[in-house]
Amino acid sequence: MRVPFFDLHRLYLEQKSELDEAVRSVLGSGHYILGKSGQEFEEALRVHLNTDGFARGCNSGTDALVLSLLASGVRHGDEVITVSHTAIPTITAIHTIGAKPVFVDVDPKSWLIDLSQIENAISAKTKALVVVHLYGNMADVGAIQTILKKCDRPDISIIEDVAQAMGSSWNSRQAGTQGRFGAFSFYPTKNIGALGDAGAVFCKDSTDAARIEMLRNYGQKDRYNAELHNGTNSRLDEIQAAILKVRLRKLNAWNEKKKNLCKIYRGECTNLPFSFQSVAPECVPAWHLCVVATETAELRTKLMDFLKEKEVQTLIHYPIPTHLQKAFRTDPQPSLSITEGLANRIVSLPMNAGLTELEQSYVIDCLIQFFRIKQ
Ligand SMILES: *Cc1c(COP(=O)(O)O)cnc(C)c1O
Repeated sequence: MRVPFFDLHRLYLEQKSELDEAVRSVLGSGHYILGKSGQEFEEALRVHLNTDGFARGCNSGTDALVLSLLASGVRHGDEVITVSHTAIPTITAIHTIGAKPVFVDVDPKSWLIDLSQIENAISAKTKALVVVHLYGNMADVGAIQTILKKCDRPDISIIEDVAQAMGSSWNSRQAGTQGRFGAFSFYPTKNIGALGDAGAVFCKDSTDAARIEMLRNYGQKDRYNAELHNGTNSRLDEIQAAILKVRLRKLNAWNEKKKNLCKIYRGECTNLPFSFQSVAPECVPAWHLCVVATETAELRTKLMDFLKEKEVQTLIHYPIPTHLQKAFRTDPQPSLSITEGLANRIVSLPMNAGLTELEQSYVIDCLIQFFRIKQ
């Protein structure tokens, strides 16, 4: 059996007629940017997030971060605290506006930001903190708020990178609704994906929302009236918005399905010598990836080779930590031993809303077989 890591076409087929119809109706509408579909999707997203506030569409998750940073007042030379154990775009967004990422390590169990290192990372230049809810697992945003208050720095904006955690919740509060901003990505493989690029920002404050609206539209307050000098063009187009309205209807069912797949992986693999991310009791994750860590780097390589031979596709999220990327390296180099260790041992198993039970049990059989041979 051949098990692909992700087959996007399957998810298209699940909603083919609705998606085709959504696109067709925009094509015939004569309105392609910042129109009715965009507004309807923004409202549907706000309703999904189940709290007062403002959801504003934009071009991508990267842009959602950039717009959130700009709206937080982050400028050239300012510092932004974040983790290195994340997707490259988290860091690209910070560099794009000339700010400097200040890396803290991750917790060895949750693989999320190590709260005990935040205080030391704060300087007079710190303007924002980007907390990444990696793979769908959530960091404790309330605890970060408490730390910033205790350090007398409640002015530091907390931006939640929710690209991988749409639908995750913390004490019943949706990921992306606790920080000053929540940055969502609808990259095709994310919890809900557009059929192209798309993203959104969520915020609770109306002034912040107005800033996002201006920033995404050339800095204009209204047509031909520029109010902000650092605006850009990052508007969610009507076709993607119409597609996302259809996708949003599937979010809960798909998240539920993935929750179940992860539960099965965890249950069936309890005796195998690798570990999963630990999850806080307050958190119900909407898993974007199912990542396991082997005991050694060599074992990871052997396991991936074995699975490849069995035609099970695996990936590494992410093989080179961002602080070691050519583009982001600094002198001196921060020392992030947990992040660096994890990057050598993690592997992502096939886990997505299109995966069948049969495929998953084949993957599990292969895992068991591999570790049996090893012993
Ligand atoms: C996907 C992703 C992004 C960027 O989203 P795009 O829509 O691809 O720009 C940012 N942060 C994380 C953690 C991501 O996984």
